[in-house]
Amino acid sequence: MQVIVSPQEDIYVAVRPGVQAGMQLPRAHYEELAAAATHGHPVPTWFADAAQQAWQIDVAGRPTGSVVTVRRPSTAPVTYSRASWEINKGCNFACEHCYLEQRPFAGLPLDEKLTLIDMLQDVGVLWFQITGGEPLIDPDFPPAYEYAHDAGMMLEILTNGSRLARPDHVAMFTARRPHKITVSMYGASPDTADALTQTRGAFRTMYRGLQAAAAAGLPVEVTIIITRHNVAELDDMRALIDEIDLPRREYGSISPTYTGNGSTLDTQVPGYLDKSAIFAGCPAGHTSFHVDPHGFATMCKVGRDHPISLITEGPEGLRRLPGIADTQMLRTGGCSGCTLSSTCRVCRPMARVYQEAKAPLEHYCQHGERNPA
Ligand code: SF4
Ligand code: SF4
Repeated sequence: MQVIVSPQEDIYVAVRPGVQAGMQLPRAHYEELAAAATHGHPVPTWFADAAQQAWQIDVAGRPTGSVVTVRRPSTAPVTYSRASWEINKGCNFACEHCYLEQRPFAGLPLDEKLTLIDMLQDVGVLWFQITGGEPLIDPDFPPAYEYAHDAGMMLEILTNGSRLARPDHVAMFTARRPHKITVSMYGASPDTADALTQTRGAFRTMYRGLQAAAAAGLPVEVTIIITRHNVAELDDMRALIDEIDLPRREYGSISPTYTGNGSTLDTQVPGYLDKSAIFAGCPAGHTSFHVDPHGFATMCKVGRDHPISLITEGPEGLRRLPGIADTQMLRTGGCSGCTLSSTCRVCRPMARVYQEAKAPLEHYCQHGERNPA
């Protein structure tokens, strides 16, 4: 499969894993592609021309079903376009700054993982992020990934990279290309990365993973996680990534754990906390949601009030999610009545996590900027 064609709310889109450019299709064209795929007809000429222009791929004359996965309209009571899923919170690293306070190795049995993916497909999820813990250490990752890929999803994998060099993983991602593999980098040397992750071999396995993925031409992006343990190696990390010609970005905003423990904040480097953008609203719970390892859906990874069991309730349970999300967005608790809320830089679920962790105000709140502690 090279292209996914899918209804999204009241429009139809065509997207290609690994590429940002996509197209919007008229309904008649969507139906023509669906019929051509069903009946084994070659791709319509207009589609071959458009695919050449958008993605520089030559699909002229090929059977439509071998090129395009056509997603059916959702039959679920609610529709969503994005979801993230912690397949398993277990991790083979133990980073001090991790937003998960506990990382138990546990999750759904494989048959229920696949049932969950069926449900996500049914509610219309097209962009699907699989995270952890470290997702690649879950033995069910390969069958779950392949199942989601065959369901016609644009997959993003968040990983520490330590298992990325495994030939079976490279073969899996080559045969079924993800939209993106995002690898976190924690240092430019074994001394630093192994100390930060409290894991011997962390740097070596991560860097081998990056090299293997780059050599295979996989769509990898590296996120440099900046903490006080590795900030001295920031330029070296940038250079290492540039050497293997991968795109990179940087992340230095360390939050409390999502269960409100502020011990992670000691790893924050002053000056790398991103306070640039004013929070302008978030569609979490309305167009996207998060699923934990046991199949419970919440508005996002941070706002986890009133989880809904997808395994016992099915997609029907998601009807409650928009209301649950709206309640979590209210500026209550420590933010109630704040006169600066229109220029606040954090969403309410994140502000609550900081407040529960009793974090110093200068980490997240304008009142801390005005009256530095
Ligand atoms: S500025 Fe501080 S108190 Fe006001 S809404 Fe934002 S986090 Fe809450
Ligand atoms: S943490 Fe805040 S901004 Fe992020 S998805 Fe949740 S509500 Fe939206």
